[in-house]
Amino acid sequence: MPITWFTILFTAWACLGGSLFAAWQAGAAKADITPTEPVPLAGYGGKTRMSQRIEHPIWLKALAFRDDTGSTSVIVTADLVGLSDKMIAIIARNAQKKHHLPRERLILNTSHNHSCPVTEDVLWLYYVFTPEEAAARDRYTASVYAKYDEVIGAAIAALQPAELSFEQGLAGVAVNRRRSRGPESRSLGGQVDQDVPVIAVKSGSNLRAILFGYSCHTTALGGLSINGDCAGFAQLELEKAHPDCIALFVQNCGGDANPLPRIRGRDAEATTLAAMYGHILAESVQQVLATPMKPLSGPLRVAMGSTELPLQPGLTLEELKQRLPALTGMPRREFEHFIRQYETLGSPPDRVRYPIQVWSFGPELTYIALTGETVVDYSLNFKAAHGWNTTWVSGYNNDLLSYVPSLRVLKEGGYEGTSGMYEYGHRAPYTESIEERITTLVEKLVKQTR
Ligand SMILES: [Zn+2]
Repeated sequence: MPITWFTILFTAWACLGGSLFAAWQAGAAKADITPTEPVPLAGYGGKTRMSQRIEHPIWLKALAFRDDTGSTSVIVTADLVGLSDKMIAIIARNAQKKHHLPRERLILNTSHNHSCPVTEDVLWLYYVFTPEEAAARDRYTASVYAKYDEVIGAAIAALQPAELSFEQGLAGVAVNRRRSRGPESRSLGGQVDQDVPVIAVKSGSNLRAILFGYSCHTTALGGLSINGDCAGFAQLELEKAHPDCIALFVQNCGGDANPLPRIRGRDAEATTLAAMYGHILAESVQQVLATPMKPLSGPLRVAMGSTELPLQPGLTLEELKQRLPALTGMPRREFEHFIRQYETLGSPPDRVRYPIQVWSFGPELTYIALTGETVVDYSLNFKAAHGWNTTWVSGYNNDLLSYVPSLRVLKEGGYEGTSGMYEYGHRAPYTESIEERITTLVEKLVKQTR
């Protein structure tokens, strides 16, 4: 074969250890957010639970990408149950001001960890605190804001030439939890998404970061220890196996999935089980890393928009006042909240704002970031529409908001469809337009990134 300029250029590329793809830079960082004093634990309503011990540290982790256009984008993952609108606004404002990161180039995901401290006003209707407990929450929240700032800055500062690649594994941990609520729930759909999407970040032969996801509640544990639940164990194991690498866990559409079985009341056994679920996830990631992965070509095109999700009519002020005296605990706090809204706003809001982000890493991967406790149908449907092997759908970004049912789950009712709405402070379930509204915005944003 005659030597041509193409052959010479291709050989040069190959010698650089690169590909024909765009030049990426990537940087990863992590910040320890383990509380340094007993704090109120998040995730489960009812009686306030103060932490008693640390099972293992919990983390904020950030992964920064810069493509050959020079634009920087950052995903931050957290071993937290969720973030509130107020928290998102503060973190995003700091990122913009200090790190010049536009809102659409910042994705804030939480693992939905149920063994973390309460922060700010997340799930505020769940808890009643003494002044001392509230002060511990406030001290912890302030430290978390500082760590978000620190970890985003550190990931950007760590940017260096890298190759990105993507592939998916499978793990059989998630079970559709709606079927586990007694014999009458057995007829409900058993849908789960057991894909384990993985982005590997390498510089030459060095594995520097692993971004991996799964669709399942992190609720294997419910005791009084601080830990990252099964996702925390998975990250720990991956970082032990790859000591110079940061492993970041993304919660996908696990709104209606639990790691099952779960053990309650026998903490040592539950911890062993949670570690085993973590091991299964980590092993799935390891198997993906051991096989050829598709290089991501870039550039990273991003789009962000929001839609409105209307709510069904709620109870009238008279109905709320009539039923209030019979209520105690969280249901009472919910009713008092709606009465306050009638008195201060005229009525409880009739809709919520729903932001969505889409990041395209090139034709090889479209990353869809949804808001709130998204059920599995969104992941399965968007992957069917946009490619099973080229689409990653994550939930639990932005505000924890509420459960986000599909039309199917809404019609079936139950906790994720209808009855869980009050505890997030919403007056009633969503209307049947929910899935169509979310799908329409996703389609629009996906097109914008093509
Ligand atoms: Zn949840």
